[in-house]
Amino acid sequence: MTHMETPIRNYVGGQWRTSRAPDHSPVWNPATGEPLGRAPMSPAMEVDEAVEAAAKAAPAWRRVPVGERTAFLFKLRELLRQNLEELSRMITIECGKTLAESRGEMLRAIENVEMACGAPSLIQGYNSEDIAAGIDESMIRQPIGVCAIIAPFNFPAMIPFWFLPYAVACGNTVVLKPSERVPLTMQRVFDLIDALGLPPGIVNLVNGGRETASAILDHPGIRAVSFVGSSAAARHVYARAAAAGKRVQCQGGAKNPVVVLPDADLTTASEIVADSAFGCAGQRCLAASVVIAVGDAARPFTAALQQKAESRITGYGLDEGVQMGPVIAPESKARIEGLVGKAVSDGAQLAVDGRNARVPNYQKGSFLRPTVLLNLPLSSDIARTEIFGPVISIHHASSIDEAIAIVNSGEYGNMACLFTSDGANARKFRYLAEVGNVGINVGVAAPMAQFPFSGARGSFFGDLHGQGTDAIEFFTQQKVVIERWPKEWSRKF
Ligand code: NAD
Repeated sequence: MTHMETPIRNYVGGQWRTSRAPDHSPVWNPATGEPLGRAPMSPAMEVDEAVEAAAKAAPAWRRVPVGERTAFLFKLRELLRQNLEELSRMITIECGKTLAESRGEMLRAIENVEMACGAPSLIQGYNSEDIAAGIDESMIRQPIGVCAIIAPFNFPAMIPFWFLPYAVACGNTVVLKPSERVPLTMQRVFDLIDALGLPPGIVNLVNGGRETASAILDHPGIRAVSFVGSSAAARHVYARAAAAGKRVQCQGGAKNPVVVLPDADLTTASEIVADSAFGCAGQRCLAASVVIAVGDAARPFTAALQQKAESRITGYGLDEGVQMGPVIAPESKARIEGLVGKAVSDGAQLAVDGRNARVPNYQKGSFLRPTVLLNLPLSSDIARTEIFGPVISIHHASSIDEAIAIVNSGEYGNMACLFTSDGANARKFRYLAEVGNVGINVGVAAPMAQFPFSGARGSFFGDLHGQGTDAIEFFTQQKVVIERWPKEWSRKF
């Protein structure tokens, strides 16, 4: 371990524990290439210990009144706000995005805690008196037990918070496995959780990779799994956890199309689309990756986007003025460059070629620059493959109907955006696009915490999403009670 490295530990039953894992995965700063630590690949035995601690804590936690449970979340909100700057720096250091992007991520994480603080009213059921003479019926929501969260690398803080505060507020206990590529942010967040004075076992942290996740999916003590990651993994997790009898929600990958109509404000649209495609180095599940320019929009929009791509400043996210950080790892950079090369061999032209990027002083960083592809045939695999890097291809359509048909032809359904000044076309698009999140003159249609983070088709497996009232539904079991009291009914009024 170098002096830069931080020990990465699990947090189980209210205590930090050093994993007994024989294997570790190195964690690097993707901009500097410096080693940051070694994430333990916690074995199944350590998942068992975390589930045991969570199961032990569950009965008493369920009995804590919801208003007292959320009191811990109010406290957590304050701690997250007080430590926002430090946590944001941590996100940039291990994940690569710019400091401004990390701060935005933290704010959305906090917003989810705030939403979950509303649990005292959100968790209420409903009832009907006299559904038949003297018989009453009610629906109550109860916690489901031990819930697991498996998170991806691209939002180390925010994504666990699409689930964790809701699960806890609803009276469940939690086992969280962050991505093995970005385990450090949750180390710091769990220091804050440790300071809350929660009873031991309510929230547990187990580091690891695929094997650790598999132990979670198969564990009989876990009642529900919330997963976010690539579609291949999401599909697998959905099937495997469901086969083990669990409630499951799996958010997957994306290939997000943006339709630009000629009546749009093309200058503003190009700025917004550039931020969507190249923000977070394209490593957002809501990154625009395909533009469908309709009719006369094509030429001016392409010129404007090309200019935005060329002028974007790439570098270390902690440095002043940097607009785009590195991708997560050298293998990701090589994969993205390989996909761009394949696009070119499939017939694409490079309007802007961001491969082989070098950033002075950061020779070991996994940097790319924005890349814009033209004339990539829609039949090419690359036009349908999630690249997850700062790469966008521009295609043409002759009408909005043709553009919508292209939007609906891909495997994914995470987000689609339209740029226009025509309300009727906007409504048509909103109505017909087969995606979970729609942006109208918006490039990253990321739902606020009070809305579900939606997703459709190959981008989502399940029914209830993260965030908002969906999360309350997911983390509670509805129980319907029908009751009659003959003695009371026979009483004379
Ligand atoms: P990933 O699928 O490689 O890993 C995600 C998590 O799953 C990690 O914790 C990993 O350890 C675990 N994992 C990997 N393979 C697994 C398997 N076979 N079984 C069980 N667990 C497994 O994803 P990533 O590279 O960390 O994240 C990027 C992906 O996540 C992109 O595809 C992106 O679009 C997607 N994503 C989707 C959303 C959304 O809301 N739809 C949000 C963020 C990211």
